[in-house]
Amino acid sequence: MILRAKYLLPNSLQVIENGALVIRGSQIAEVGTYEAVKRGNDSEVRDLGEVVIMPGLVNAHTHLELTHHQDLIQRTSRFTDWLSQLIRNHKSDSEWVDSAVKDGIEMSVAGGATSVGDIHGFGMSAHTHKNSPVRTVVFFETTGFSPERTHIGVKRIDDYLASSPQKDALFQPAVSPHALYSTSATLYRYCLRLAQSRGLPLCTHLSETKDEIEFLASGTGAFADLLKAFGISMKEWTPSGCSPIQHLKDIGILEYRPLLAHCNYLTEADIKILAASNATVAFCPRAHHYFHHDSHPICRLIKAGVNVAIGTDSLASNWSLSMLDELKYLANTQDGLPPHTIFDLVTINGARGLSLERVGKLEKGWYADVIGVAIPDDGQSVIQQILDESARIILAIVAGQVCFDHGAQRDN
Ligand SMILES: [Zn+2]
Repeated sequence: MILRAKYLLPNSLQVIENGALVIRGSQIAEVGTYEAVKRGNDSEVRDLGEVVIMPGLVNAHTHLELTHHQDLIQRTSRFTDWLSQLIRNHKSDSEWVDSAVKDGIEMSVAGGATSVGDIHGFGMSAHTHKNSPVRTVVFFETTGFSPERTHIGVKRIDDYLASSPQKDALFQPAVSPHALYSTSATLYRYCLRLAQSRGLPLCTHLSETKDEIEFLASGTGAFADLLKAFGISMKEWTPSGCSPIQHLKDIGILEYRPLLAHCNYLTEADIKILAASNATVAFCPRAHHYFHHDSHPICRLIKAGVNVAIGTDSLASNWSLSMLDELKYLANTQDGLPPHTIFDLVTINGARGLSLERVGKLEKGWYADVIGVAIPDDGQSVIQQILDESARIILAIVAGQVCFDHGAQRDN
């Protein structure tokens, strides 16, 4: 198939007017102007008209199993209150979880995401992902703070991986030790060894709140209260006395290529440590707003050379799973970010963060993960028009297969 539109953005730096790409099987066979691509190629042409063709968006951090949690969580900006509600609303009904994940996938694709990094904590939806048309990295999540619970956490991650579907072009199993306030260093090291020996991506929640920083520094505050409320012993644990980033480095995680969700509170020393590592930071702008955090250090991270990606987080702390909405919000709230940088954050940087190869640009031999975005065509730069309030997703293709199709023109 030849996909044609008024504009084609193969990456953040290039605009091809009257552009087209040839999709053959799951891959891109050619990219260029329509005239050049059409020459000598009589494949069927799909003309999208006044639309931008660009790489599919990468949602680097979400929890699709929480898609139906919106009404179960009372709004609060205090993270530990929110987390406590989430723990009390743990779901063990596989049909319920499946339906949440299915709806979450549908919303993700309609919002322009062709790749998703999804945290999987209930242990029931990996097969739903495997059968979905979206490219997914499923991070099996485990927790375990005390020695007894660490033992349970080891078994949980072993069981998840043993029952996981096999990796294929669209499905990648991965591991996620949850967070430093819920997961022991022993369990982190166990997950790291699993990731290293099997080549699995690894994600963790890090430096999300000031409470987490206090807890690691002195063992006091809201997280100490939360552990106590859930009967979790801190007896055999001593606070690291340093920042979450330094502590994760000491555990050995940063030597790998971890995806670090949030990183909302960072010192200059933390940023230096991250810049010297292979880590990716997944910033979730609207979830950040939901919890009324201080402004995110995204500009400082990018300046320091850290790979930053973007996630929606879940509907338990966001009002949509649309990556296009997330993009627009980011552009409206982060003046310091040029449009081409925002484009990179949600395409190539996200792909790098999820360890996805040949994803995040439109190039010959790369996967045909493509979206069509209807734009106002009002004379602004093309990337700025993608960030315009009126822009909308009309087409999403993953590995050459159409997953979402809404209102596009057809020619020939
Ligand atoms: Zn999360």
